[in-house]
Amino acid sequence: MAYQAIETAPRSELRECQNERLQETVRNAYENVDHYREALEDAGLTPDDIETVDDITKLPFTTKEDFRDEYPDGLFAVDNEDIVRIHASSGTTGKPKIVSYTQNDVDVWSDAVARCLEAAGLGAGDTVQNAYGYGLFTGGLGLHYGVEELGATVIPIGGGNTQRQVEMLEDLGSDAIACTPSYALYLAETADDMGVDIKDLPLRVVIFGAEPCTDPMREAIEERLGVKGIDIYGLSEIVGPGVSIECAEAQEGLHIHEDRFYPEVVDPETGEPLPEGEEGELVLTTLSKEALPVLRYRTGDLTTLSSGECECGRTTIRMDNVTGRSDDLVIIRGVNFYPSEVEDVVLEFDEVAPHYRIDLDRVNNLDTLEITIECEHDFEGDREELRDRVLTRLQNVLSFTPDTLTIEEPGGIERTEVGKVKRVYDHR
Ligand SMILES: [Zn+2]
Repeated sequence: MAYQAIETAPRSELRECQNERLQETVRNAYENVDHYREALEDAGLTPDDIETVDDITKLPFTTKEDFRDEYPDGLFAVDNEDIVRIHASSGTTGKPKIVSYTQNDVDVWSDAVARCLEAAGLGAGDTVQNAYGYGLFTGGLGLHYGVEELGATVIPIGGGNTQRQVEMLEDLGSDAIACTPSYALYLAETADDMGVDIKDLPLRVVIFGAEPCTDPMREAIEERLGVKGIDIYGLSEIVGPGVSIECAEAQEGLHIHEDRFYPEVVDPETGEPLPEGEEGELVLTTLSKEALPVLRYRTGDLTTLSSGECECGRTTIRMDNVTGRSDDLVIIRGVNFYPSEVEDVVLEFDEVAPHYRIDLDRVNNLDTLEITIECEHDFEGDREELRDRVLTRLQNVLSFTPDTLTIEEPGGIERTEVGKVKRVYDHR
């Protein structure tokens, strides 16, 4: 438990550390980034006005538009000679967000990931197969350095090559694999096709991230692979993976590394801070980043914070699994829903495979919604009857009726081997 001192410290000790690091971060941003100096001046603030984390709500937000406006390096606080690494997060539209790291930033990040892995029940002597994509995406190298920092062995296989992944799990006896939740399921299917039962292999942990994962989806992964499924959270704008993770003991919310990243939850509409326990948009402030200090970043991810000591002994605040982003909200004929609500329904039915797609279109100026699901290999019942049952359940959950509900053959919905799965296709 080499990394746990700060995670089990009394709150007062943590608070002191946060206050000190917040002051340094604000000063760094104000003195070295024009964008922040102007934003603070517009708000009538100087770094002296921010003494403790209680003052944080005085600070203006940072948004993804700010990253776009300051592309590529307008938010950097250090000179090129101090930057040792660049990553980028792909935007769905326009230019990517470019992020940078000093050597110290890389060390802090690796340490944060190592702490995550330890919380997931891994340690020196374990082998972690890293199936995140390497390259500009922070997932690959972020995880990689964290495994090494932990003193464990990393297999840098990267995304895709699914048959090879299964062979490596078998031949090298990997203890853990890091990948997206949808890929974990695809891996299980591929192994089945190869006649390999992953449950018989030493694999015991799947670290999944980069995609939202509901509890039923996690249960499906745990059951099919015979593993513990641990959700890791992070985003490139803040650091990459490593902001928070579930502990293996409780698996009840993700412990945030609060000594490095300060969390708030705000009303996504008004930006007003919400009390603990209420769901809203997660806002994060970096507390140690040198190259790219970020103040009050609007992540777009919806979650709830809860404090109180955990079964595992950690005293750090926990956030709920992120199952929706405010950007993912689907609005159809004036009704709102999150794709994760469809996922919950799909996973309630044993006869239905954990894959789905949602197609939105507009016909004669009217929005239409088509949901496609897939039955399990061993399903031999009446499809019409199954379709009616799923449809009734969807109606209850979504409060309106999809125009079409299609049940595909097993394997009929396209699988994503590399990168994030796409579930919603908006043709409007
Ligand atoms: Zn815990």
